[in-house]
Amino acid sequence: MCGIVGVVGNSNATDILLQGLEKLEYRGYDSAGIFVTAGDKTALIKSVGRIADLRDKVGNQELGDRGIGHTRWATHGKPLEENAHPHQSETGRLTLVHNGVIENYAELKEDYLAGHHFNGQTDTEVAVHLIGKFVEEDGLDTLSAFRQALQLIKGSYAFALIDKEDADTIYVAKNKSPLLIGVGQGYNMVCSDAMAMIRETNQYMEIHDQELVVLTKDSVSVQDYSGNSLEREAYTAELDLSDIGKGTYPHYMLKEIDEQPSVMRKLISTYADANGNMAVDPAIVKAVQEADRLYIIAAGTSYHAGFASKQFLEELTDTPVELGIASEWGYGMPLLSQKPLFIFLTQSGETADSRQVLVKVNELGLPSLTITNVPGSTLSREASHTMLLHAGPEISVASTKAYTAQIATMAFLAKAVGQANNNTKAAAFDVVHELSLVAQSIEASLSDKEMIANKVEELLSTARNAFYIGRGNDYYVAMEAALKLKEISYIQCEGFAAGELKHGTISLIEDGTPVIALMSNNSILAPHVRGNVAEVAARGAHVLTIVEEGINKEDDDIVVSSVHPYLSSIAMVIPTQLVAYYASLQRGLDVDKPRNLAKSVTVE
Ligand code: GLU
Repeated sequence: MCGIVGVVGNSNATDILLQGLEKLEYRGYDSAGIFVTAGDKTALIKSVGRIADLRDKVGNQELGDRGIGHTRWATHGKPLEENAHPHQSETGRLTLVHNGVIENYAELKEDYLAGHHFNGQTDTEVAVHLIGKFVEEDGLDTLSAFRQALQLIKGSYAFALIDKEDADTIYVAKNKSPLLIGVGQGYNMVCSDAMAMIRETNQYMEIHDQELVVLTKDSVSVQDYSGNSLEREAYTAELDLSDIGKGTYPHYMLKEIDEQPSVMRKLISTYADANGNMAVDPAIVKAVQEADRLYIIAAGTSYHAGFASKQFLEELTDTPVELGIASEWGYGMPLLSQKPLFIFLTQSGETADSRQVLVKVNELGLPSLTITNVPGSTLSREASHTMLLHAGPEISVASTKAYTAQIATMAFLAKAVGQANNNTKAAAFDVVHELSLVAQSIEASLSDKEMIANKVEELLSTARNAFYIGRGNDYYVAMEAALKLKEISYIQCEGFAAGELKHGTISLIEDGTPVIALMSNNSILAPHVRGNVAEVAARGAHVLTIVEEGINKEDDDIVVSSVHPYLSSIAMVIPTQLVAYYASLQRGLDVDKPRNLAKSVTVE
């Protein structure tokens, strides 16, 4: 979570920091701050709320040529100005920004920092006091003090540190949290995400866990914690600045929902050649063929995309698929099969919970595949194989196009493996044709926006809670639809297996409770869902139906044009994304940046 940006040797440092933080704001946005220096002038400016509030406070001042900035997603201490970063050492000589969680901060405070005065409650403030103690009380130089503190600090961190008495250096270190160096002409940068530096440079340098970097305007020195210097080449990132803007859209979420047909087409041109032959890396196909079980590890929306892919993966690859919640598996691996393959689904490729599982998987020497939207991300680098989602940057905190791209990418994988295994169902499944029908179905649903907005107003304008119900793959879509609705509209919503409601939860249904029923074109399941709809309606529920063409009836509310049953989750989720979008919009909420959340969840 959270974003860090730092720059040294650029007279526009203040503006670079603020612009960088604006780009990083999707990662955390409860408070923000910058520290900028030039010679012996320093400025520390913090603000609760958005980067726009911080910008207002800074005004047009250009404060110096070296600085660090931070946008926070609170883990320790409330989102108050005193807890906003940057934080300073006891005498104010050192200034630090931090992303992550210091697990032993209470012990460090007790063991080393008796008598120190703290302004807030963050773990970060303890870290900067600790480094500061080694400099200010024990007389170490800043680099040695930083190194000594890094030997003591346990947990996850990306740090950027400035010593105001040393005019031209930023000290950087990382463990588990993302951080990159940006190499400029006559200046250098550090940042959580390449996107925030793309205006300044396309030359980047990776930092690995437990490495320290000393950054000046014209040098980058990477070293381990013992001070041994390490070779590191810069690489050129292929990011397109124009992908990042919201264009004429009022919100990123709506733009990203609308991009889904073109993402489907992009995936078709990436994972199939012009003759419709699969273009999936043969090494990945082989890794799946060799596995006796596929373990899909993910969190949140990606976890739901894993479920949505389970049926076709099993049928086409003839391999059982098991799903794992990343935060559960990181510290409690169940009994594994003889030849497991781990598949990590992560939009950002930085999800700390998933990374923790990958660390375990690598310790066990097991093969892995990361399916992610971000090339070069941590989970991509550290897994045996990567497949990219090609969805373009997803900025809205609520994921939409990454979810549908994950399912489509999995469909190519399943098809390629099934074909290699001579699986008859795979032979009959023309993934290219079927996904182009999916793209059309999405387009048709997108043209119903106004109608959906009106239905949402009728159904949810005063709702405090709601249910999505469905069976089979629609149950998994219900889980995702409920997550989307609750995360951005704050309406408490549960996604339920339609038949399960009557075993307890139906007691929550009362007059007017909104229930949204999902029915894809499955002639066996749909009549049962209709029965479950009747049960809740009889108890007063206000029902809205989202039904796939083919089994629709006259009084159904939203009809989705028909697609292959393996891919129905993609088509069925589209109206539910719009339901969430309009519910949030109609309540006057910040659609793209819901409270308490962050886009890339880089803390465990
Ligand atoms: N643990 C730190 C805090 O609560 C950093 C959180 C973050 O990564 O934004 O301030």
